[in-house]
Amino acid sequence: ASQMLVSDIVAFTAQREPDQPALQYGDRIYSYASLADRITQSANALLSIARQGDRIAILAENRPEYVELYYSVPRAGMGLVFLNYRLSTREIEHIVRDSGAAVLITEPEYLEVAQSVAAQVGALQIVMLGVDEDNTPADVTAYDELLARGSTQEPDIQVRGDDLAWIIYTSGTTGRPKGAMLSHANLVAAACNSAMGWPSEVAGPLLFPWPLCHVAGYGILVTHLRGRFLVLMRRYDPKGLLEQIEKYQIAETSVAPTMFSQLLRHPDFDKYDVSSIRRIGYGAAPMPAEVLRQGMARFPNAAFSTGFGMTELSGNVLYHPSAQHVRGLTEKPELLVSVGRPMPLAMLRIVDDRMQDVATGTVGELVVRGPQVTIGYWNNQVATQEAFEGGWFHTGDLARNDDEGNWYIVDRKKDMILTGGENVYSREVEEVIYEHPAVAEAAVVGVPDETWGENVVAAVQLRAGATATAEEIIEHCRASLAGYKKPKRVLFVDELPRNAAGKILKRELRELAAQSTE
Ligand code: ATP
Ligand code: MG
Repeated sequence: ASQMLVSDIVAFTAQREPDQPALQYGDRIYSYASLADRITQSANALLSIARQGDRIAILAENRPEYVELYYSVPRAGMGLVFLNYRLSTREIEHIVRDSGAAVLITEPEYLEVAQSVAAQVGALQIVMLGVDEDNTPADVTAYDELLARGSTQEPDIQVRGDDLAWIIYTSGTTGRPKGAMLSHANLVAAACNSAMGWPSEVAGPLLFPWPLCHVAGYGILVTHLRGRFLVLMRRYDPKGLLEQIEKYQIAETSVAPTMFSQLLRHPDFDKYDVSSIRRIGYGAAPMPAEVLRQGMARFPNAAFSTGFGMTELSGNVLYHPSAQHVRGLTEKPELLVSVGRPMPLAMLRIVDDRMQDVATGTVGELVVRGPQVTIGYWNNQVATQEAFEGGWFHTGDLARNDDEGNWYIVDRKKDMILTGGENVYSREVEEVIYEHPAVAEAAVVGVPDETWGENVVAAVQLRAGATATAEEIIEHCRASLAGYKKPKRVLFVDELPRNAAGKILKRELRELAAQSTE
């Protein structure tokens, strides 16, 4: 085909650098050539059990076959549906049913869930990773055997750039997850955009600690487009990350803010040699400036960078380089909370309710147009229609930019608090609370109030062994914030409610805070 497919990302690099390592997981290493061969075989194998146009769902933690399926399912003209293994069986069943998947690929740890989903949904074949035919239940196909039977010839089917490649359900932070349909063209554009927009690489392997079921996985496409070497971790845990960095002399990694703050708070942090790290990317949720400052001090050899992206955008569309982080430490503290500038292959605007551009410095909604933007939500025309306006995609995020051209995510539209006629951005209050030395994690929400409309309420998880009273936290906020912004109440929690993607669930927190009124 004349259009580039997702699987071409590996095929093109394999042509150039066949023997380069592409992927390592424990003792298993795939070169670019062997990964490309496996993708072709896997695509043919899938075509022997399902048809072009079908959806194939995957329920597994990180493992190398998952990466190969990123490419092979779309190469077979099918859509790969990512299932977050942290969801409940009922939620998984809902997504499998909603996506109309013909095949569910899983691994031994999730077989029971898969079988119970199959029993409910019906007409669902189960394929299992990492087993041989002999220890496989009768109703299950072993992936390895299936793959071994797959031809190494290019599949003889027409796949087009605008065909569906992946369906990733959004994290479900603001409501029920929606299935963002990403085409080959979307993913190729996202990979090219980041390959172009991110700085040229440092030498050495990259460690990928995110769950592969998250859109962060598009970073793997970027890595493979650039011909680099990726080390995969089964599942993120702070100690595991430190071990892998030391063991493989990892040069580069990326994390979500929560992962990072857990890492910095880990009691064994100093026992590991992390000096090989040259670059740390972070994103997917707001990074508190205070956590970032501490992180930059703990990794003095690393260049820090971030960006902004979302599931519906197939990856990132803003990029904030390391030099600006350094300026953030020295001359312009605001730069520690910026998401940088638009990347080369996307158009971004900040608009008011009538889609008019707002003035520099004014808060509005971020809207995006470009080749990365989703082709729509699966099976949800209403949500698709609501999301687009005149070709622009509504992110639901409030943003502003400054006179130097740096962009900032101010808050989610749904998280902004209206109190006594004033707008309070939850994030601004959170930033201040994080500066309190006893605080490990914090989230701020609006709770309905008859007099004020909403009241500002903070939920705080204290650091292990630390103490603070609500009055102290409120007093601390009073010193840096206008009176109407400071929390009226502080709720101490053992852990903040989070969804399967690890994001703080403010809708649950709102209910919790409303119920806990004295
Ligand atoms: P749902 O759409 O189901 O409510 P979600 O929006 O959390 O869930 P994702 O697509 O995983 O699902 O997350 C995208 C959102 O994450 C963005 O819209 C934004 O609110 C937030 N986000 C991503 N990157 C950043 C960042 N660098 N800073 C602040 N927020 C970010
Ligand atoms: Mg969203």
